[in-house]
Amino acid sequence: MQKHMSYLQKHPSITRSRVNNFLGGGQWEDVNIKAALYDLRVSGEPHVHLEVWSAPGQDRPTFEHAVKQQFKPAKVGQVFGPSWTTHWFRIRATIPGSFAGKLTQFMFDTNSEAMVWSEDGQPLLGLTGGNGGERHVDYLLTSCANESEPERTFYIEMACNGLFGNGDYHVHPQDRDIYYRLSSAEIVAPNQEAWALFHDMEVIVEMASRLPQESPRSWQALTAANDIVNIFNHSDLSTIKPAREIAQKFLSYKTSDAAHSVFAVGNCHIDTAWLWPYAETKRKSARSWATQLNLMDDYPEYRFAASQAQQFQWLLENYPSLFERIQKKSKDGQFIPIGGTWVEMDCNLPSGESLVRQFLLGQQFFKQHFGEYCDVFWLPDTFGYSSQLPQIVRLAEAKYFFTQKLSWNNINKFPHTTFRWIGLDGSHVLCHMSPAETYGAQCRPNELINSVTRHKDIAYTNESLLLFGNGDGGGGPLRSMLERLRRMEDVDGLPKVKQAHPREFYKHVDETARELVSWKGELYFELHRGTYTSQSNNKRWNRQSEFLLRDAEMLSTIAHMRRSHHGAQFEYPHDEFVRLWRLVCLNQFHDVLPGSAINMAYRDSDKIYKDIFKSVADIRKGALACIYGDALNNSENDGTGMAVLNTTGWMRSEIITIPQSMASRFALDKHDARVQISERDGSALALVSNVPGFGTCLINPDTLAGSKPANSPVRVYQCAGEDSFVLENALVRVVIDAHGRVRSFYDLSERRELVPKGESGNVFELYNDVPLYWDAWDEEIYLRESFKKLDGTSVAIVEAGPILGSVSVKVPISDDSVLTQVISLSAASPRLDFDCDIDWHENRKSLKTAFTWDITSDFATYETQYGVVQRPTHRNTSWDLAKFEVCAHKFADLSEYGYGVAMLNDCKYGHSTIANTMTLSLIRAPKSPDEHCDMGRHKFRYAIYPHKGTFSESRVVQEAYQFNVPLLHIPLSGTEIADANSSPFFSVTGAPNVVLDAVKVAEDDKQSFIVRMYEAYGGHARALLTSRLHSSSITKVNILEHPIDDDGDGSLHMLPHSNTVEVAFKPFEIVTLMFSQ
Ligand SMILES: [Zn+2]
Repeated sequence: MQKHMSYLQKHPSITRSRVNNFLGGGQWEDVNIKAALYDLRVSGEPHVHLEVWSAPGQDRPTFEHAVKQQFKPAKVGQVFGPSWTTHWFRIRATIPGSFAGKLTQFMFDTNSEAMVWSEDGQPLLGLTGGNGGERHVDYLLTSCANESEPERTFYIEMACNGLFGNGDYHVHPQDRDIYYRLSSAEIVAPNQEAWALFHDMEVIVEMASRLPQESPRSWQALTAANDIVNIFNHSDLSTIKPAREIAQKFLSYKTSDAAHSVFAVGNCHIDTAWLWPYAETKRKSARSWATQLNLMDDYPEYRFAASQAQQFQWLLENYPSLFERIQKKSKDGQFIPIGGTWVEMDCNLPSGESLVRQFLLGQQFFKQHFGEYCDVFWLPDTFGYSSQLPQIVRLAEAKYFFTQKLSWNNINKFPHTTFRWIGLDGSHVLCHMSPAETYGAQCRPNELINSVTRHKDIAYTNESLLLFGNGDGGGGPLRSMLERLRRMEDVDGLPKVKQAHPREFYKHVDETARELVSWKGELYFELHRGTYTSQSNNKRWNRQSEFLLRDAEMLSTIAHMRRSHHGAQFEYPHDEFVRLWRLVCLNQFHDVLPGSAINMAYRDSDKIYKDIFKSVADIRKGALACIYGDALNNSENDGTGMAVLNTTGWMRSEIITIPQSMASRFALDKHDARVQISERDGSALALVSNVPGFGTCLINPDTLAGSKPANSPVRVYQCAGEDSFVLENALVRVVIDAHGRVRSFYDLSERRELVPKGESGNVFELYNDVPLYWDAWDEEIYLRESFKKLDGTSVAIVEAGPILGSVSVKVPISDDSVLTQVISLSAASPRLDFDCDIDWHENRKSLKTAFTWDITSDFATYETQYGVVQRPTHRNTSWDLAKFEVCAHKFADLSEYGYGVAMLNDCKYGHSTIANTMTLSLIRAPKSPDEHCDMGRHKFRYAIYPHKGTFSESRVVQEAYQFNVPLLHIPLSGTEIADANSSPFFSVTGAPNVVLDAVKVAEDDKQSFIVRMYEAYGGHARALLTSRLHSSSITKVNILEHPIDDDGDGSLHMLPHSNTVEVAFKPFEIVTLMFSQ
């Protein structure tokens, strides 16, 4: 070949464009490398015979069902739909003799997702059609065709959805009417050498453009690429060989020993539901993982990690042969189950116990099916990470953590890549955030270059993780990625790359890092703050499920451990609790609970919650029947009294509601200060005093008559000559103005006004809530720049005391939406309750309630899992500013020396405290990806609880707990119950900062039970725990219920001759005890 001198150093940008064009589609693809990629292709009869059967509606039938159906002829060009329908193709393919000696593939492009099945029903390979970067549509028929090939029959299951569901755009609502065109069904023989040159060039061309332009390797890359283009001739394929020699020479120069090391791991992030329902995820994981298993056969160095036990469980149920293949590949070390949790859950909203169950269920599954626990906690895509996670991860026998989501922060750049993450209690895990800033890397030189240039701790550790593979909708790594990785393993100019188990990376860092920086406390995500509020009913069901399951497990444990009493038989429904917790954990997936999934996903989760509520109610009923035996009455109508059961660990005095059907028996004199007939519904309101923690109190007409009147009766009255109303008991006096706002909140014993002059509380603020892009996800920083204060109207007295006083207020929001609220004060407490019922029909609006207090503090305290987190009330730095909306569980508290006010809630999470104004986010109205998000009726409650002392001297944790966990009322037919069943089952004394949170039967020993407690305020404690359930030994265990070596640190100490144990706590420590027979 003739060759002239190249002057490319004089025109590098022109040459870069030229070599880029060599790889591109479009107008040059008939003369560039693309023209050489396939030697042969045939389609249509007699080589390809196509038939199809379309499943009715949105059914997703099994293989066995589908193949028995009547198939009809089908052809390329035909369209299939609408969205979410399924179509099964039966394909008979005969490879022509002209393909002899060639690797031969079947190329089938439905422009949607599909699965190839063998004739005998084995799922073989997932396909993703269309023209996107995720496209893979090739099914290998043979690696070397013979002169005469037999006819092959196989099936392809076409799903009418793409990788990202059925929207035209990632976050848009789903289109129900999309049809997909079958655009190819052909037998092809790829030119393997041409493909190899294609992959060589992908690496070289990108090195030419992405390496520093002045570097020798950049010039060498450009020169090599240019030489290759000069040599290649599409009409003379013998030119490929010398072209490849040039490529190989360039790629043969090695890196230095000191080069950065990238540990590459394949993955396909599959959202368990997002722009598709759970049912589609079952098929997505099967498709994606089947594809990866095939790649593992062809690339022995390939390592692929997959998380979420739930997806494996679905696979086990629906694709057992695939599951077995995965188990085999896992033994070989290629398929890596990872993460240790049931799903990749949201980490802001689930309770502490929920996080524990995520790990317990997940780790159990991985151990059972893959022989080991996961030591890497894996959450690439969750919207912020609670400060209690390091402790929980450690207690789940893991110690490493991976994420990269904080690279999405839209205010501050997170300053670390590899660091020790220190949790609330001082536990730490080794955390790595991939410097390539993606979990869907494409294995291109640029990502390797970023792994170095964006690494923020390279002074201490010279390695990083690269997670590659198409994700979100699944799919996973493509063959081309593995080809590029092979070429980039050890090439001068790039870091070294090797495929590895993530554990290998973390171990290496642990062993070799000079030192590592640390980050203390939560990993707050500076984006997606609307996910604390969107899909508010879903969040409410989650909160209720968590507490209902808590009560049901505790009562079932008591009944199970004491079942000899009354001859009642009660078997702890272990399997059912596992099923229920799995469901709760499933719905905590990081696009479901946060509110960022499509409408279909919430119809599914609604059904799941209904199932949970029903089952829990049945279990609780059975457990109570066992505990209270004959005294229990199944019907409220003829009960003679009630057992009031307290499932929290401290004494409570509260108002209970005796149903209307029993009320008349309890009614004393209408003006008696012991009971009050409700004006609202005729029920009887009674003050029940001193119900012991984990104990029962009996009430009946006699005990009530003999009880003392409330010592803090409530009065409700209208201020003379004003539109304001006063709610007053012996503790506080509250003034509600004509707009329903709290104008004054006065602590009578402290003689302290809590509302600053001219300010008020319970101010409803309506915001224009239009984020930048992610509608259901984001409340943006500018939201607070403009809002409208809503005026309540029609304030009127509902209950006039003496047990309960309340006023109602109506708050018109717009022509379409209205909120009604009942504000109540009881005779038992200074707590002011707000019961809300809202009918909401807005477009991109959000509603908050705001309270301004005469309290000065630079920080507010918010409840998180098993503890609290303090966040600034000022905006000094951009890091403070970024926390303009934060997540809290049951309360937020603003305290100064000597006094504080807490805002409690029963299902809300979005909070903010700016200076001395606290707001609670009540509801939003995003339109995508669920166009119906939060439209309609909602009920929720919040409360104001003033307290003497700072937060840590208060009882806010307990008060918020009981705001969420009502006393249980159990109608009785007798007048008393056996003493043995009315005295407390447990007692916790000596440590008001310790909360007993969960009681359950042990996982592996039905004669043992588990008690989980935590230190809630951030101090040391020595708690005395007494159990009335029989046990002979007590052991400290982790959350997987394995004994913890406490090295005789004295944290557990049995008191002699008693069933009392003294438990020492460190601040925010979670302690799990196993009581064994
Ligand atoms: Zn995700």
